[in-house]
Amino acid sequence: MSIDPARAFDRVTGTLQDDPNLIATLEVVDTLNVMVEGAHPILRCPDGCARCCLQQVFISEEEWAILLPALHRDSTADERRRIVRRARRLLDRKRGPLRRALRARNLEDLSRLTMTVDRRRVQRCVLLTNDNLCAGYSGRPMVCRAFGRVSHNLDNPMLCKIFLDRLSDEGRSHRDLHLPDFGPVRAAYLLGTPEDIGFTLLPIFVVLHADADGDLMTEPRQLPRDGDWPVLTREEVALL
Ligand code: SF4
Repeated sequence: MSIDPARAFDRVTGTLQDDPNLIATLEVVDTLNVMVEGAHPILRCPDGCARCCLQQVFISEEEWAILLPALHRDSTADERRRIVRRARRLLDRKRGPLRRALRARNLEDLSRLTMTVDRRRVQRCVLLTNDNLCAGYSGRPMVCRAFGRVSHNLDNPMLCKIFLDRLSDEGRSHRDLHLPDFGPVRAAYLLGTPEDIGFTLLPIFVVLHADADGDLMTEPRQLPRDGDWPVLTREEVALL
């Protein structure tokens, strides 16, 4: 009996509508990762590649509450101090698209500028080590787990250039892969997030959690809503 991977993907993402919450969503994305790689070996990442980490990701306070303990589990104090220094240097820059994004105070500007930051790949994620590893891999955010494994729709796969080039070299298209639909994953991610949760760029969480020794605190704190940093609500993130 042949198994249709697309139907198997749908069955897994379909479970999310029953009880949308962040932990369940992360587990489903991890399951999809294994399934997609098994069904499509062409989507296995090259060793040591960190191309999809050359950006600053937007995450929620809930995701940070999972990522922060992972940084204490997976990394040394020295590495965490390097992360804090990288985040401070990045946020202290006086010019560039990231600086303009940080000054944005309305959703339209922030959305446009965040896209620009993303597209120009101006910086490595502050959690990316010198060995191209994620310093908090076991607690990485949802988008980091989903990228390269799902598709927004038939014309908009979340695939990197390496995968697209491999497919092109074989005379194939991403359409042939029938990747899992990102829609139910994103819906569960948003619906499972409490309404009052804030979202912002990962380096902002890092700087706000630096302790007096330049290490990271162990307990997550709420993002300040006083306007020093752009903080988006769940409804605003849904519009991005
Ligand atoms: S959090 Fe980790 S996986 Fe995500 S972009 Fe940063 S280094 Fe990469």
